[in-house]
Amino acid sequence: MRVQVDTEKCQGHNRCFSLAAELFDVDDYGYATELGDGEVPSGLEDKARLAAANCPEFAISIEE
Ligand code: SF4
Repeated sequence: MRVQVDTEKCQGHNRCFSLAAELFDVDDYGYATELGDGEVPSGLEDKARLAAANCPEFAISIEE
């Protein structure tokens, strides 16, 4: 599984990072990017889905 943040859509709510700090990083303004190449380590799939479901901008996509 892989997560990806569409930086054009991200509005910097910081929500993904608070839900899944293992998968996302945020800059000083709260804008997010996926950590590394976005590969979701085994066991964190639910967190990835939770973060995507809670992004108000629908900026997080998941590749199964
Ligand atoms: S929850 Fe969505 S809009 Fe908010 S920082 Fe994360 S990717 Fe960006």
